[in-house]
Parts: sequence; C-alpha cells; structure tokens
Amino acid sequence: MADMVRAVVQTGPRQMEIREFPRPVIGPDDGALLRVEACGICGSDVEQYKGAMGTRGLPMVPGHEPLGIIEEIAPATAARWGVNVGDRVAVEILIPCRSCDLCLAGRYMQCKNRPGSHGGYNPAERGLGLWGGYAEYMHLHPNSIVHPMRADIPAEIAVMFNPLGAGVRWALQYGGVHLGSSVLVLGAGQRGLAAILASRYVGAGLIIATGLGRDAKKLALAREFGADHTINVEQENTVERVRELTGGDGADVVLDLTPMARQPVLDAIEAVRWGGTIVLAGLKGHKEIPVTTDKLINKALTVKGAFSVDAAAYTDAIRLIESGKFPLEKMQTHRYGLDNVEHAIKLLAGEVPGEDGIHVAVMPGL
Ligand SMILES: [Zn+2]
Ligand SMILES: [Zn+2]
Repeated sequence: MADMVRAVVQTGPRQMEIREFPRPVIGPDDGALLRVEACGICGSDVEQYKGAMGTRGLPMVPGHEPLGIIEEIAPATAARWGVNVGDRVAVEILIPCRSCDLCLAGRYMQCKNRPGSHGGYNPAERGLGLWGGYAEYMHLHPNSIVHPMRADIPAEIAVMFNPLGAGVRWALQYGGVHLGSSVLVLGAGQRGLAAILASRYVGAGLIIATGLGRDAKKLALAREFGADHTINVEQENTVERVRELTGGDGADVVLDLTPMARQPVLDAIEAVRWGGTIVLAGLKGHKEIPVTTDKLINKALTVKGAFSVDAAAYTDAIRLIESGKFPLEKMQTHRYGLDNVEHAIKLLAGEVPGEDGIHVAVMPGL
C-alpha cells in the first residue's frame, strides 16, 4: 500500500484541492483505517461547498456518507464494533461520546461531547486528518458508528444506505407509516424517493408524491418505486388532488422534504387527514412560514421536526438494500473520482446545464 493518501481538501467557499496525507498508523486503541469505496453527496455537501455552513474548521476533508472496507483495525476497536479486516461497513456521520445523557437516551445525534464527525468541520490538521469520505482512506475514530454490510452489492448501490436511512427514519419512525397507511411525499429528490421506497417496503396503502415540472423523470421513478400517484405541483393543485385521491379524508402522513419552498408546509396542513402526522425535513433557510395554529389544534395534528438519521434507521435501510427488492440502480445517476468532486457537487446543485442527478457518488477508485 502507498505511504501517502490522496484526499480532497476544502480550503474556502467553492475552493477544493487534492492533497496528500501520510497514511495513518493505527495504534492499539486507535479505531480503524477504512479504504473508501464510495461516498454519497447530498444537499448538505452543496451548502458546505458554497460556504453557507461557515468556514470554521477549514481546511478539512468533506464527505459525510462514506462506505468502505476495513483495511486495518485496532484490536480493542474490532472487539467493540464486532467487525474485522476485510469487512465492508457503512459509516455514520457523527462520532458520539457514548456516555452523555443524550447518548445514553439514544439521542446521540446531538451528543454534547462529540470528539468529531466524519465529513464535518474537523480541521485536516487535527488528529490523523483524514476525517471525511472524499479520500482514498479515512481514519475511523474508536467512537465512530459503523454498520456492517454485505460486500457483494455494487458499492454505488450500497452507499445509498444514507438517503435510504433518511427515508426509513422520516417516513417510518417519525411518520409512523405502516401497513395500509396513506402517505403524501412532498418533494422528489433522493430522499423523497427513499421515503417512497421505505413506505412501499412496509406495505403503505396509498403513496402520493409531488414534484415540479422539471422533476418529470424523478416522478416517473417515484411511480416505479411504488408511488400510486404523482402530482406536478405546477399544473395541479396538490391539496385538491390529494383529497380526491383519499376520498376527501387527506393523507395519514405527510412528509415535507422540499428545500426552501414554503407552500408545501401550508399544503401539508391542508392535505393531512384529521389526527394525522406531518413530518418536516425540508430546511427553509430560516424563512418564516405563516401557519394558522388553530388548524393544527382543530385537526388534532402531530407535527414533527425530523433531525438526522439514527442507527436503527440505517440498519433497516441496509436490510432494504440487501433485500434486492427495488431497482435502486435507477436512482444512482452519477459517479466521479476524487479529481471530479467539485463537478459532482455542482451537478447535484443543479449548476451543470443540461445534466440532472439524483444520487451522485464519489468513488475514490475511479
Ligand atoms: Zn448527506
Ligand atoms: Zn454523548
């Protein structure tokens, strides 16, 4: 193995370069060395790239949705994780302390004493430097959370554990979608499609998905993944159409996964059935939305904010991928090597004219 590791380093807003790092040496309780097979890209990468999430912690190695093979592992870490050299693992973003009150209550996503995160703002100078997934190798901290996964599934499919984990968490855990539920999914990005897959997987009764005119391909894929009806919100009235499709009742569960748009939140309140649940997961850039709270009361609604994904959701998402029940490859649209990470991010951001991506993966081996 080479002594140096190539990694993408972000140095400022819209500034990235390839740097070489010494290959980390794994000490007796020093976590593990991961050979990165693939790393997914999502809207957070776009925000991070633009500098919208701040520049504290730069320069650093981004990439928070990594999948790879354990190349080296400290004995104590192998015992703690139950994995060994040669195993494929999906890596979670957050590295929790595993001891604070939030960690002990299973809310480790908000751990108070995080030693760091994978692909978050850990300066490349800190620790062994290679915290993010846009690199040939990553150093996994002893407190990292990894999920073993079958190694025979193509890496670009397996790496979708991340958006699918969000689909499971938001639709099933927060939304409570189960056998027979009617579900309205607002937004047809990779996480909207993932929410449809998760809902279909557990036997939802009626799935309706929305998108814009330019989302025609994504909506076609939504139908292939199990949506019974799709709505082009630029041509049809979402609320009226949902009422029509649900015999006037509205949907049991409504998920808003649209970025920045305010109308979907107002539509969700109108389109959900009495006593139903609304899950909000689309960030709006801190814009205010005028909600008539009386409607929430009079309809006895439950409104939940969906923050991140947890281990249980990732585990279920991995089982969904391993089931082979869905043609997930149709959602995997683009793969790029380390030299083309900026292009990959711009593509997902919609900044590459004439090209549209759903799931975009960075594959350091390309
Ligand atoms: Zn992400
Ligand atoms: Zn903690």
